[in-house]
Amino acid sequence: MRGVVFNGNRQAEIQEFPDPQAGPGDALIKVRASGLCGSDMHRYRAPGPTDYITGHEPCGVVEDLGAGAPPGLKIGDRVMVHHYAGCGICEICSMGYEQLCPTGHITYGGGTGHGANADYILVPSRTLVHLPDELSFEEGAAISCGTGTAWNGLKKMDVSGQDTVAVFGQGPVGLSGTLSAKAMGARVIAVDVMPERLDLALELGADHVINSQETDPVKGIQVLTGGMGATASLETSGNAVARGQVLQCLRTFGRCCYVGLGGPASIDFNRDVIFKVVTIFGSWTFSKSELIEIARFMVEAQVPLDKHITHRYTLDQAVEAFRNFDTATTGKCVLVMD
Ligand SMILES: [Zn+2]
Ligand SMILES: [Zn+2]
Repeated sequence: MRGVVFNGNRQAEIQEFPDPQAGPGDALIKVRASGLCGSDMHRYRAPGPTDYITGHEPCGVVEDLGAGAPPGLKIGDRVMVHHYAGCGICEICSMGYEQLCPTGHITYGGGTGHGANADYILVPSRTLVHLPDELSFEEGAAISCGTGTAWNGLKKMDVSGQDTVAVFGQGPVGLSGTLSAKAMGARVIAVDVMPERLDLALELGADHVINSQETDPVKGIQVLTGGMGATASLETSGNAVARGQVLQCLRTFGRCCYVGLGGPASIDFNRDVIFKVVTIFGSWTFSKSELIEIARFMVEAQVPLDKHITHRYTLDQAVEAFRNFDTATTGKCVLVMD
């Protein structure tokens, strides 16, 4: 089968791999869609090669099941993958947070296990959840990391119609934050440096956009909120400056959630946290049961998730897909298998 690896310094390559076989506890998935995610780009730009097939947003159909699969799962089912495997039995794994297992974990397509930029992916059958009929494979792929990450950050802050939410970064995660916060009833201020992404944010329902290269977003958000500041903010960019601004833009008693990966940042805790009585959340993707919850929300709230998917590629076009996503001007890019 075909699988996409990174050779270092922005070089993706399609290679041939043996077809995987489902052993006990395994599920073999025929991949139908695989999303490109911001965190892929850290590995894509790194100097060294990847050891495993890339792609940590798998969505597809069960092709084969090894012994010991959950009784509710059968061949032919449409599925999403909670793409981590921890020890599977500890307290944290039992909560559905295998990525937080204290004994370590595999991330399928995230550098420690083969991923979904391939014809097939082999994962433990316990990692699968059903994809609702109303959602496409592409939407299921997006939910499996990027969209779900944004949604769960907003859920932690209990975002509602009483909120003005500032979403920093309008890549696929930030755009999903804009879509989800709107669906939760909030007013949304979207912040980015790329005009293409700000235009997309407006199309997806952002009430206001701020280009932080032209306007200080902290001042811009003050102006848009009558001098008060945002009630909640979501940091998806990982940028060191944004990591400070996402706190500075809040009003008293505001909440902030960090989901974007990046380097260290300097924060004035007296001014921006203690004396404003701010609540800070960190969030890393979601649990297996939250993956089900997120998919249900997208269906019931009729979130137009497909609108944030701007580029679709075949598996054979993977090199071009990564090159284009690397420009940071696109919405969600997804590989769609035939
Ligand atoms: Zn565990
Ligand atoms: Zn991701």
